[in-house]
Amino acid sequence: MTRCQNCGEKWTFEEKLKESFKFTFDRHMTCPHCQSKQYQTHRHRKISALISFLMVLAMFIPSFLSAPWQVYVTTVVTVVPVAFFLMVHTYELSNTDEGDFWHE
Ligand SMILES: [Zn+2]
Repeated sequence: MTRCQNCGEKWTFEEKLKESFKFTFDRHMTCPHCQSKQYQTHRHRKISALISFLMVLAMFIPSFLSAPWQVYVTTVVTVVPVAFFLMVHTYELSNTDEGDFWHE
């Protein structure tokens, strides 16, 4: 469950999705309830990195099995949305910018 650390309101999946697109361009997300700046926690950045790694790994599995191209397409079409969903679903927020996890 994702809660704003400033006002304590829950963020819906749609709100997280909307803010995650903005997050690509700026490091913070804006709480839709209190308009405060919220940042991803260290923990969530690590989780995101792990999900990305598993996503890439999953996309390589068909090539190890010498699978036909239809399997590659099916894998990418399945894995990418699932990975994206998991990243958004597991969001954790912080009032401060904790920096990138490799800069602890
Ligand atoms: Zn808030």
